[in-house]
Amino acid sequence: MTHKDLQLAFAVRFLALCAVMEMATLTLVPFSLSAQTPATETFQRDPKQAIDESYTQLIRKYTTAPALNSPLTDYLPASSSIPTPAKVLGDVAGAPDVLPYAEEIYRYFRLLAAASPRVKVFTIGHTEEGREMIAVAVADASLLAQAKENGARLAQLADPRILRLDDARAQALVRQSFPVYYITGTIHSPETGAPTALMELAYRLAVDNAPYVQYIRSHIITLITPVVEVDGRDRMVDIYKWHKAHPGQNWPRLVYWGHYVAHDNNRDAMAMTLDLTKNVLNTYLEWHAQVLHDLHESVPYLYDNTVGDGPYNSWIDPILTDEWSMLASDNMARMQSFGMPGAFTHGNFDTWSPGYLMFLAGLHNGISRLYETFGNGGADTEKRMLSPDQYSRTWYRPNPPYPTVLWSQRDNNNYEQTALLSALSYFAQNAKFFLNNFYLKSKRSVEKPGNAGPAAYVLAQDNRSWNRQMELLKVLALQHVEIQRLTQAATVALPPPSRKDGEEPKPGTPPPPSSQTFPAGSFIIRMDQPFSRVADALLDRQFWSPEDPQKTPYDDTGWSFGDLFNAKVSRVTDRGILSAPMSPVPDLSQIPAAEVGPGPFYVVDNSAQVSLASLVYALQGSADVSICEENFDSAGHKFAAGSLIIGRVEASRLKPLLRQFDLTAVSIASQPSVKVHSAAAPRIAFMHTWLNTQTEGWWRMAFDELHVPFAYISTQTVSKEADLRSKYDVIVFAPVAHTSARQIVGGLPMWGNVLPWQTTSLTPNLGKLDSTEDLRPGLGEAGVAHLKDFVQQGGLLITAEDTAQFAIDEGMAPGVFVAPQKTLKVVGSVLNSAVVDNKHPVAYGYDGAVPLYSADGLAFTVSNLTVNRDILTAKEYKRPTGRGGPDEEDTPEGRPVEKAPPLPAPKAWQATPLNEEQERNNPFLIPAEYRPQVILRYAAMKDLLLSGLLENGDPVAEHPAVVQAHFGKGDVLLFANNPVYRGETIGSYALIFNSIINFGHLK
Ligand SMILES: [Zn+2]
Repeated sequence: MTHKDLQLAFAVRFLALCAVMEMATLTLVPFSLSAQTPATETFQRDPKQAIDESYTQLIRKYTTAPALNSPLTDYLPASSSIPTPAKVLGDVAGAPDVLPYAEEIYRYFRLLAAASPRVKVFTIGHTEEGREMIAVAVADASLLAQAKENGARLAQLADPRILRLDDARAQALVRQSFPVYYITGTIHSPETGAPTALMELAYRLAVDNAPYVQYIRSHIITLITPVVEVDGRDRMVDIYKWHKAHPGQNWPRLVYWGHYVAHDNNRDAMAMTLDLTKNVLNTYLEWHAQVLHDLHESVPYLYDNTVGDGPYNSWIDPILTDEWSMLASDNMARMQSFGMPGAFTHGNFDTWSPGYLMFLAGLHNGISRLYETFGNGGADTEKRMLSPDQYSRTWYRPNPPYPTVLWSQRDNNNYEQTALLSALSYFAQNAKFFLNNFYLKSKRSVEKPGNAGPAAYVLAQDNRSWNRQMELLKVLALQHVEIQRLTQAATVALPPPSRKDGEEPKPGTPPPPSSQTFPAGSFIIRMDQPFSRVADALLDRQFWSPEDPQKTPYDDTGWSFGDLFNAKVSRVTDRGILSAPMSPVPDLSQIPAAEVGPGPFYVVDNSAQVSLASLVYALQGSADVSICEENFDSAGHKFAAGSLIIGRVEASRLKPLLRQFDLTAVSIASQPSVKVHSAAAPRIAFMHTWLNTQTEGWWRMAFDELHVPFAYISTQTVSKEADLRSKYDVIVFAPVAHTSARQIVGGLPMWGNVLPWQTTSLTPNLGKLDSTEDLRPGLGEAGVAHLKDFVQQGGLLITAEDTAQFAIDEGMAPGVFVAPQKTLKVVGSVLNSAVVDNKHPVAYGYDGAVPLYSADGLAFTVSNLTVNRDILTAKEYKRPTGRGGPDEEDTPEGRPVEKAPPLPAPKAWQATPLNEEQERNNPFLIPAEYRPQVILRYAAMKDLLLSGLLENGDPVAEHPAVVQAHFGKGDVLLFANNPVYRGETIGSYALIFNSIINFGHLK
């Protein structure tokens, strides 16, 4: 920002403040944004209110140093009728050794609600394992009584189309309304402090008569979900109980948090796959809340990462970035004034990816906030020793945490509550300002086509993309994005093509098309709707410059959903699209299903749908399903190789299945004369490690969602099971993430004590998904041998990323190697690939380019040898010193020239062919039928990056991405990309499921 920009920004801010103050005077608000009062004045107590002496004494006792508490939380107000958290906990919130289950937490909130008219508890849904999720509303009884009418007013501010974008009407509503501040706790199960902090916070908000607390509860509704990851919370409490029952021993790691994923439950705000994400967003939107504030524990002592660091997400309203600054600046200033060390707001968290739970608010016209506080992963009081990057003083952390501290759960609860109380106070004081912003952001989202654009995104009516389009539209529907469908074809003007400076079109090249027509039935995502921003952020492409000053992106840098779903999405800037005839699609499930004809045969064209395997398993045993090996025409339709031909099935049985799986079938009168093989429904085992279950959890979720059955086994099972092949046809070894073959084989070190993961009376929530008497042993050498036998006896092993490296390192993928990365940099990007072998069953249904998610740019090389030996190619050859120019040949004198055979010139995805000399008596030479087959390769450099960050991409460009290796009678499928990731990579799912239903026919 230049000085001039700054002046302008301040002028704009000042005008905004004046507007707020004007409104504030209208509504007799005694505070305003510009008038800071000293903390002692703002947060003074009610001298008449009695104190709960015994509770207060225990707060003091459990706080390890006076500086680690504030005047806001160093006492507890007394109430004769309302129970304190001690009623359920048996001690104060944050007491050592006390970690309540979700049920106990809920019991307290329900006791509170029963005793106080200022508290109400609502069930907001359930988890994958059926545990309840709740929200607790706290405010004056009069506010709670008006919550419904208030919600109806907020709904109009949230959708300014209802108000015809009339600011005067909006301002009248702002004056009558009060905002909702939504706080969510313990999404990350080992971050354990939030629930008790929130129990006590709710008590304070309901009971404390300090003027500032009265002000909060009379001006805003505080909404609290004390436990977001309920399944993980209960497992975490089990672990803690085990730890307390086994003093002096190491305790088991929390290998499962939620049913499917661990830490990534806070990366689901884009694809919306988890119940907790859906429940929180639905609650946030039902209440028309203005803030979603998520509580974490990984940074000492309180990092309000709301401001964080750049780059900021490019699709949010600039109003939001200012709100972040305002809230965090006041919040941290208050913490400073209380003398609490280690509170800061800048730091290493970039605000680029919108995958975090809090971002549900950021992209739905609200305010996203997140605290990282400090915790011990349980309720023990511990001496904590920080690293220099944590305790050093820096420009944004002038009052850093102590290098060493005795830290208690109570300290954590003091920090969380103090920061939240002061944040709620500031927000309540400026309630009208933030409500007005809420309206403004919603209005600007509706006005997007006329401002930044685009006008709309279009998914053109296209039978071959239908299934993946549905998957993408379902995500948008879960995000509460409105979807329309063209009732007639519409033509839009295309923007002129972007051309690099000075680049002239080649003479003779036809001009690019200037318009595009979308057929009737195309799906339209209008950008003149309140939630245009979330659609824009998901459907647009991302570019992270290698020159960006931020060198360590916090998470993925690219996620463009049109690419990842392999469903072409057109970004339309022509506003004419908005007046094309279209009708809303309020419910995707109500789109009429295609008619199913009389049969007796049906063909489901293979267009790389996610759910062909779902249909094959559903029809297993009750119909004849075969797969064609070539393209063919029938009944006026073209069918691609890999299409399903179904016979011996009733239309009435097929129709509901097609509907369930978003598939369509063409009825044909006779079996087509095309080469086919039977569709396989192989017996699948899913092998997990005990090191980490999250990355495989995303795969497990996809298989469950698609009803593809599997046995869930661990590396320990495989180490004990000699005859795997008699039980299974396919073993899926999904990525473990950042691990090595040595760790997979070795497991955890065997010294120390046994670490069980079992269902017992002490740990009733462990050992359900899988169990072991000891987490430590890995696959072991026996397991490696069993796995090799399995493949050699004809099994298929599916691997990706680090498990592909494992297969290579263990010698199960002869001729496949990891390409050296040199100075390559990829951080969670979308890279383009191309089909190399379009006859290969794994690539059935794909034509041309296939966008892939790449975590770090892993790519392969292939060889005709089992050893990675360089064979000189034409590209590497450098002519020796001698006669002639640099491109001429040397010629010896005194004899005729003897022409050398040409050096091989393979492509980057091909093996270098060996000559007779190199092949002769070479024990490393792989027989032709056992050489690896490359199915997909990464695109050439100029087409490689679709979204995200790519720097020095040579080591990945054109290199193999998906390879089938042959080992004995079986095969190993190796993915350099992660084809099943965070519910976002729908476009590459079929690569996996094609391999499954074509089991036995992959060669
Ligand atoms: Zn966390």
